[in-house]
Amino acid sequence: MTRLYESRKRILVTGGAGFLGSHLTDRLLTEGHEIVCVDNLFTGTKRNIEHLRNHQRFEFLRHDVTFPLFVEVDEIYNLACPASPIHYQHDPVQTTKTSVHGAINMLGLAKRLRCKILQASTSEVYGDPEVHPQREDYWGRVNPIGIRSCYDEGKRCAETLFFDYHRQHGLKIKVARIFNTYGPRMHPADGRVVSNFIVQALKGDSITVYGDGSQTRSFCYVDDLVDGVVRLMDSPDDVTGPVNLGNPVEFTIADLANKIAKLTGSAAALRSMPLPIDDPKQRRPDIGLAQKMLGWQPKTMLDDGLLPTIKYFRDVIRG
Ligand code: NAD
Ligand code: UDP
Ligand code: UDP
Repeated sequence: MTRLYESRKRILVTGGAGFLGSHLTDRLLTEGHEIVCVDNLFTGTKRNIEHLRNHQRFEFLRHDVTFPLFVEVDEIYNLACPASPIHYQHDPVQTTKTSVHGAINMLGLAKRLRCKILQASTSEVYGDPEVHPQREDYWGRVNPIGIRSCYDEGKRCAETLFFDYHRQHGLKIKVARIFNTYGPRMHPADGRVVSNFIVQALKGDSITVYGDGSQTRSFCYVDDLVDGVVRLMDSPDDVTGPVNLGNPVEFTIADLANKIAKLTGSAAALRSMPLPIDDPKQRRPDIGLAQKMLGWQPKTMLDDGLLPTIKYFRDVIRG
């Protein structure tokens, strides 16, 4: 789609070379906007944005959001932050800095530009929840001093900052609480469950189920998630969130392992490994608010989303 100059927005996507950020960038470019992609390439890769290298409306800046950023844009999607436990636990102090200093810098930027800003928050703000499914008015159960805290508390503090800039400076904010999302362009060594299981199954390695596999997650396909995020950004100013975005169909991790083994045609056996510390036992979004405020709900069933994801990893493994 080509847009007239006046209706075209220049949009900043931080974390734009990552899994979600690169899909969001594709979607916004398709809508005719101009994208400034900012990423320090910690977990993101140039491969995710390689196809945009010569795109006239796309620009990549290698930059760490914990440092101030001076660009001129009309809207900001703040996605920069490692999302997989092994990566966010690799340098936990940097993870907190990315969430907190990154949020302060991007909010400062939005304040100077008087522009709308959306935060990619997470279901991890609910911690290991004692309320099920999780609704936005549940305050969560998070360990403040554990190995997941750098991510969970960092994201919680970022939400606080967003709402304080909103109250104190009248900033237009949007907060999306994203639940487990999967799809093509997840990094093969990302460490999250969908990519791990698919790569293991395709390579014929055993599938590593942590704990007894009875813990649950709800998996959203990336295209559905991106659609929800864009709808949230485009919603009226009084819709600030936080809004849950995720697929409300819940699976045990053992179910997921068996499903992926079947869909890949793999004979790989399941291997039991220790359950990581503070691993949430169950997780499923209540998406009533997103349905009501955004007219949004996911369309892709797990099997239908796993097939293109498996194809993607098959191509990556073949090189
Ligand atoms: P990802 O790791 O693929 O993407 C994160 C991107 O941020 C990477 O490209 C990385 O290089 C970049 N980044 C990290 N630290 C940075 C810094 N200091 N400065 C600039 N760039 C930096 O992960 P993703 O799944 O695409 O996650 C994107 C966002 O969505 C994250 O904020 C994550 O917390 C959030 N989220 C994702 C999920 C999910 O299931 N995918 C769930 C909840 C929340
Ligand atoms: N900031 C930025 N880009 C801008 C404006 C601000 O990166 O265009 C950063 C700035 O470095 C500051 C932070 O955002 O540390 C918060 O800005 P704010 O104006 O809220 O606070 P102050 O500058 O008054 O500390
Ligand atoms: N998990 C697993 N095997 C793996 C990777 C993850 O059993 O190889 C489990 C993990 O313990 C958790 C669930 O799958 O219970 C989802 O893990 P992921 O890291 O994808 O996301 P999060 O825990 O942040 O929801």
